[in-house]
Parts: sequence; structure tokens; C-alpha cells
Amino acid sequence: MTVSDHLIIGSSHAALAAIAAIRAQDEAATVTMLTRDRHLPYSPTLLPYVVSGRARPENVILHDAAFFSSLRVRIETAAGITAVRPLAHEVMLEDGGIWHYGKLLLATGAAPTVPAIAGLAEVRFHRLRSLDDALALRAALAEGRRAVVLGAGLVGMHAAENLATAGMAVTVIEPRDQVLPSYLDAETAARLAARFAANGVDIRTGRAVVAVAPTGSGEGAGCRLTLDDGAGLDADLLLVATGVRAACDYLAGSGIATARGILVDAGMRTSAPAVWAAGDVAEAPSFPGPSRAVAGILPEAVAQGRIAGMAMVGDAMAQPYRGSIARNTYRFFGETVISVGTGIAGTVPADAEIFTGHDPDTGAYWRIALRGECLLGIACVNLSLDTGTVCELIRREIALTPLKARFIAAPRETAQRLMSRIWR
Ligand SMILES: Cc1cc2nc3c(=O)[nH]c(=O)nc-3n(C[C@H](O)[C@H](O)[C@H](O)COP(=O)(O)OP(=O)(O)OC[C@H]3O[C@@H](n4cnc5c(N)ncnc54)[C@H](O)[C@@H]3O)c2cc1C
Repeated sequence: MTVSDHLIIGSSHAALAAIAAIRAQDEAATVTMLTRDRHLPYSPTLLPYVVSGRARPENVILHDAAFFSSLRVRIETAAGITAVRPLAHEVMLEDGGIWHYGKLLLATGAAPTVPAIAGLAEVRFHRLRSLDDALALRAALAEGRRAVVLGAGLVGMHAAENLATAGMAVTVIEPRDQVLPSYLDAETAARLAARFAANGVDIRTGRAVVAVAPTGSGEGAGCRLTLDDGAGLDADLLLVATGVRAACDYLAGSGIATARGILVDAGMRTSAPAVWAAGDVAEAPSFPGPSRAVAGILPEAVAQGRIAGMAMVGDAMAQPYRGSIARNTYRFFGETVISVGTGIAGTVPADAEIFTGHDPDTGAYWRIALRGECLLGIACVNLSLDTGTVCELIRREIALTPLKARFIAAPRETAQRLMSRIWR
């Protein structure tokens, strides 16, 4: 049995933020990072660029082995865990090994879900969450020209753009009526879909795949998809990007409470003593509360990992987690899209008001959701909004009065003006 004072499971953004916080306070304790991945830590956000070839695999690695040696952090790759025994302070590994911990952080992120589609298990399909997934997709580009992406969420759309950039003929199938349904309103989504179409991507919203069958045999065989309108579609490469769920199956029988993720409080503590969880695996308080959410975005994984790491070493400066606010910035075919907060995607809350604006000179477009005098959320295209400033306006429930009309007309400049008043 091997022992570590601080045992971190996972090697991505939450885990890295935690080890930085631990080492800032405690240089002596043993710190070990166990990860299922066979690579050194990398950012999943860069994987679509590995697929297109715009980024080389070695360029997405965040830290080399020397970095971990200098921090005296032991990192074990290809070391997936299968179980946690909180009473014994033990973690079981896939290879049968056992680690004993003083304090444990679970930062195992999320894993892609696979939809229940007849025949899907019989065909070769790809996912995009790990560097190995991206390398497999990249290798598959050589095997044909036609790619089909299931799901028009963030991962699906990123992948579609990069597959098209790499020269594939790409079709995206999305059962809901618009692309990026969890992030954008229908109008902003339609502008973006038009951009994809102009770049040759065939986007089919409001359509579902009902069956899949192989079109050949052997390694490189493609497949034929049947859509719910009876149409058929041939694919040399099939990417399933229909969503993710917290990767915490290894907690079965551990007694640690889970729902959509591992339940944590504002200090990232789980229901078990000496066990914390952070990042895409954690279901944490969300803003404005009292609800909980699996935030599923990089900045929140970093914030949660830092809080967990500080708590593990008893750092007196540790602040409670303020709750997640959804925020995403993405660039598709030269269009920069930003979405922050709520009230933008899906059904608009009954007590919210929606305002839109555009700048004919720059082509920028924005859509704002307000509740009374306060900002709920904003989505914009080609407007260089500072998402940190917007998050603060939302979090602090800053009344926009008397600048409300100005904010609606010029959100970027007015947001800065409002916050500079507060910070001053
Ligand atoms: C293609 C793509 C694009 C994205 N784009 C954006 C974006 O633009 N903006 C944004 O904010 N977010 C984006 N995200 C989401 C962002 O990457 C995640 O929010 C962030 O990586 C979460 O970090 P994490 O540390 O919680 O977990 P993850 O990054 O999910 O990493 C989990 C870690 O745990 C390890 N692990 C899993 N199971 C086990 C096990 N049983 N035993 C040991 N180790 C295990 C994995 O190997 C990995 O090291 C994107 C994600 C993808 C896939």
C-alpha cells in the first residue's frame, strides 16, 4: 500500500488549482496526483484544435514532468481509480493497487454520455473529452471525407468547425430546434448556424437519429444513420457529442453522497470526512442559490479546485465558494460568441425583460435579459465584452439605474463604467 498526505484524483484544471493552493501553504506534506489519463495534464478546451491539426498534441500539455518534480508532486498517469473507502482512508486502483490518504480530493471531471440509439453499439464512433479521443479523431480523418456529429452543444460545434477546417464534409444533427440550445437564444443561435452553413457545414436541427448500422466490416468501416424523418445519411466518421455526466461511478458503495455530481458544500467538502470534490465532477452551490449545479466550465473548476486545496491545508484565507454563474466565450469561423448568466437560453423567465441591440458598423449583436433593474444574463456576437465584469454585475445584483438605457444601447462600455464606480 502506498501513502500520501494529500491524494488528488484527476489531473486537469481542478486538480492543478488544488495542488497550487496546497503547495502555497505546505511545502512538506506529500502530494500525489493519480490520473486515468496516460498523458501529462492538458486542457480539454484545446482538443478540437488537435483534431483539425491547428495544435500539435505536445502544445496542449499544460505542465511537463519537471514542473511536478519542482513542486515535489508525484504524478501517476494511467492510474484510474475504481473505488473509495472513506472509513479506511483508502482508494482502489484499476491495477489492484491501494493508496492510503490523509486528505483526498476527487477531481475526476466529466465523461461523455452515449445516447440510446438502436445499433450505435455495433458501429465505430468517436467522442471528444480526452487527448486520446482527439488523437483517434485526427487519425480517422484519413479514412474518409464525410463526418457526422451528433449534438450541437459546445463540444459538437467546436468539433464540427475543426472537422470542416480539416477538409471534411460535416453534418451536425441536433434534436432541439437550434444550435447551442443550452447557451444561446434562438436568434443568436440562428446567426451562428448561418455562419456554419456559409462554411459548408450542414446543420440539421429538430432532427434525431433513430438507428445506425455499419456499412462495411473491419477497422475503418463507416456507418449509415437513419433520421426520424426517414432520411438516410452515410458517415465515414461519427462523433457522438450529446452531453457529459459527472465521472464518479467509482463512488458506488462508498457512502459519499451524489446526485448529478458529487454533492459538496461551499467549502467543497463532500459528505465524508477528509474528502473534497471539485470541478466538473462536483455538484456545488450555484448563484444565486439555494440551487446546486454541476458548473461544467473551466473557470469554475479552477475556482473550486483552489478552494478545496486551501481547505485541505487549513489555509485561513479560504473563502466559501460564491456559486457558479454560467459563462462561455467561443470563436467559430471568426465569430466571437459570449454568453453569461441566465434568462438567455431556453424559456425566458416570466419576470424577465429582453432587450436586443446591434452595431451596424462592427456587425456586433447583443441580447440582454434583465429582471427589474438588474442584469440576469447577456449573449452577444462580436462584442468584446469582459465576462468577469458582467459576472460581477450579476453576482452583486447591481441596479443599472440610471444607466439602464445606456447599458442596453452600449453594454460593453456601460458595464465597465458601472463596475469602475463600484470598485472605486
Ligand atoms: C472539447 C471541449 C471544449 C471545451 N471548451 C470549453 C470552453 O470553451 N470554456 C470552458 O469554460 N470550458 C470548456 N470545456 C469544459 C472544460 O474543459 C471543463 O470544465 C474542465 O476541463 C473541467 O476540469 P476538471 O478538472 O473538473 O475535469 P476534467 O477536465 O474533466 O478532467 C478530469 C480528470 O480526471 C481524470 N479521471 C477521470 N476518471 C478518473 C478515475 N476513475 N481515476 C483517475 N482519474 C480519473 C481524467 O483522466 C482527467 O485527468 C470544454 C471541454 C471540452 C471536452
